[in-house]
Amino acid sequence: MAGRIVLVGGGHAHLHVVEDLGRACPPGWEIVLVSPETRVVYSGMVPGIIAGHYRRDESEIDLPRLCEAYGVGYRRARAAGIDRRQKRLMLDDGTSLPYDLLSFDVGSVPALGDIEGARDHALPVKPLGAFLGNLDRAVDAASRRIAIVGGGPAGVEIALALRHRQEATAIALVSGGDLLESQPSSVRRQVRGILAARSIVLHENVEVIRIAPDHVGIAGCPPIASNLTILATGAAAPSWLATTDLALSSGFVAVHATLQTLTDPDIFAAGDCADIEGISRPKAGVFAVRAGPPLAANLRARALDRPLRPWSPQAKHLAVLATGPKHAVATRGRLHVSGRFVWWLKDRIDRSWVERFRKP
Ligand SMILES: Cc1cc2nc3c(=O)[nH]c(=O)nc-3n(C[C@H](O)[C@H](O)[C@H](O)COP(=O)(O)OP(=O)(O)OC[C@H]3O[C@@H](n4cnc5c(N)ncnc54)[C@H](O)[C@@H]3O)c2cc1C
Repeated sequence: MAGRIVLVGGGHAHLHVVEDLGRACPPGWEIVLVSPETRVVYSGMVPGIIAGHYRRDESEIDLPRLCEAYGVGYRRARAAGIDRRQKRLMLDDGTSLPYDLLSFDVGSVPALGDIEGARDHALPVKPLGAFLGNLDRAVDAASRRIAIVGGGPAGVEIALALRHRQEATAIALVSGGDLLESQPSSVRRQVRGILAARSIVLHENVEVIRIAPDHVGIAGCPPIASNLTILATGAAAPSWLATTDLALSSGFVAVHATLQTLTDPDIFAAGDCADIEGISRPKAGVFAVRAGPPLAANLRARALDRPLRPWSPQAKHLAVLATGPKHAVATRGRLHVSGRFVWWLKDRIDRSWVERFRKP
């Protein structure tokens, strides 16, 4: 059998798939990557870009160049739906692309919840490329009072990176639950101390009900003055996935451990946009990166009509939190360590991962 594998989204897992299937393409098969962005930013380096440790281009991967290097086709477009009967991927430019196997790695978006005005008055952290461009314009525009909504790793890293960049700016971090609630209490204590030492005002366990141009409204509390509000809330599924007839889990594409969707064995999904049946993991880049090799192997096996292998992401993973200057806190399970050498290690890991795809 021969055919076409269409990869939707230049997410972390698909970068590996381009490299792997491009190097050893199943005979007679064609691979095409569909992405609205030509350059993708590596999320692990975003706090370092904001803090001024990296130039933006050091963290960017040029998708058309990567695809060309591995003999993979590239189509600049955004997927908007699927016609499963005709086996066609619908694109936002009104055209469609035939596929034999389809794979989604389209990431997630910050959850808006029921926050009034969030869509109109907040700057969402995703897509990352647009966020960085808008942030540069907004931060440099005038003296700012900045609020970051979201007390997870992304919110904390952005607050600390902004403080490193702008000493004089008033910065508030607003968390719906406990700060860094998936981290051990000792790490939460340490990070609260770092935030206080850097004059970042932390509001924990509060309910944000409104985002307006000049404030963040909190249920039962006075508003927080802010003329730049950044939305770094938990990951939500891209809404267009709900327009497909794929089985979903909390909006994310429901997949088996083989990364095939529950609905269709010729459609796969990985990274933030997928939920593996019976396995609960945080939406983190580390899992999207790890999903690359099993996704490539199973797409190849399906193309060659061979048995597929189940994959289970590891339960514990190394989470590294950059704290503004060249310093970071690393956590794995209940173990944690911090210092400048942790930043050095993170820097080496991030740079070598990005370089692999920047210089194919
Ligand atoms: C500031 C910040 C820092 C972070 N730091 C870390 C960290 O240090 N470690 C960690 O593990 N996680 C981190 N994360 C989380 C991490 O960003 C995500 O978990 C990770 O990017 C998910 O990877 P992915 O492959 O699923 O999707 P993504 O990397 O988000 O890629 C999805 C791609 O799909 C494309 N796409 C979207 N919609 C469509 C469509 N309709 N059609 C075609 N293409 C589409 C997008 O353009 C994008 O290029 C961070 C997040 C943020 C916001």
